Amino acid sequence: MFSYILLILVTMCFISLILCPPYWREFRRKQISKTPFKKEWRKIIQRRMPFFKKMPADLQLQLKQHIQIFLSEKTFKGLKGLSITDEIKVTIAAQACLLLLNRKTDYYPKLKTILVYPRAFVKEHQVTDATGVQSTKDTVLAGESWSYGKIVLSWQDTLDGAYLTEDGHNVVIHEFAHQLDQEDGYSNGAPILGSHQSYEQWAEVFSTQYHELQRRAQNAIPSIFDYYGATNPAEFFAVASEVFFEKSHKLKQQYPKLYHQLSLYYRVDPTSW
Ligand SMILES: [Zn+2]
Repeated sequence: MFSYILLILVTMCFISLILCPPYWREFRRKQISKTPFKKEWRKIIQRRMPFFKKMPADLQLQLKQHIQIFLSEKTFKGLKGLSITDEIKVTIAAQACLLLLNRKTDYYPKLKTILVYPRAFVKEHQVTDATGVQSTKDTVLAGESWSYGKIVLSWQDTLDGAYLTEDGHNVVIHEFAHQLDQEDGYSNGAPILGSHQSYEQWAEVFSTQYHELQRRAQNAIPSIFDYYGATNPAEFFAVASEVFFEKSHKLKQQYPKLYHQLSLYYRVDPTSW
């Protein structure tokens, strides 16, 4: 009789595992977030991300829980001889998870692997000139986000981005903002918005500021945004996300509507940190 009941229970568990993976994933994440945060990891964040100390205690706690879950689900691979250490994993995870605070999140569901080069890397790509002649061109990159499964980062640029908190450049924020943008299948500068936000207002504000940056870039007028943001709307969203976290006061002062949209989206107000 006992073995019969046990068999039924095991079968039920097995079926529920197959039919309800989101439930079990959620259960697993809850358990992970309850485990104590490693002291060494906290030291890494404090040393590598000065930003962290300024954040309110409740956001620091949330960030640490997100880091634990993020690190349990993503794979890291070192390239060009780089060995992956906790220092690398925690520094990247801490910045990536800044974008997930105060919301229900699925932790960049499409992303499986983070590839890390020791420093900026060269990517070769095909270009076609006005006469139709094709050639290869090398571009030096600090990071790259793919729509399915991977992000590539330069460790040196990751360190600089985390440590220099007010220069408006942060490659991890940039590439992970692309991941958020790509969650709906399109890389167009319009991520999935919550019900408290309007796509019309988002499009109006972002398109106005994107075209303003294009005008500035064409006429070499200084901007708080890197001119790279004028490449296309997806790059503008990624660059604006860097500025939102790293030059929040200037952004709020100069572009209050854009700041408002981003603070609704990211559900934090970095000017108060
Ligand atoms: Zn980009």
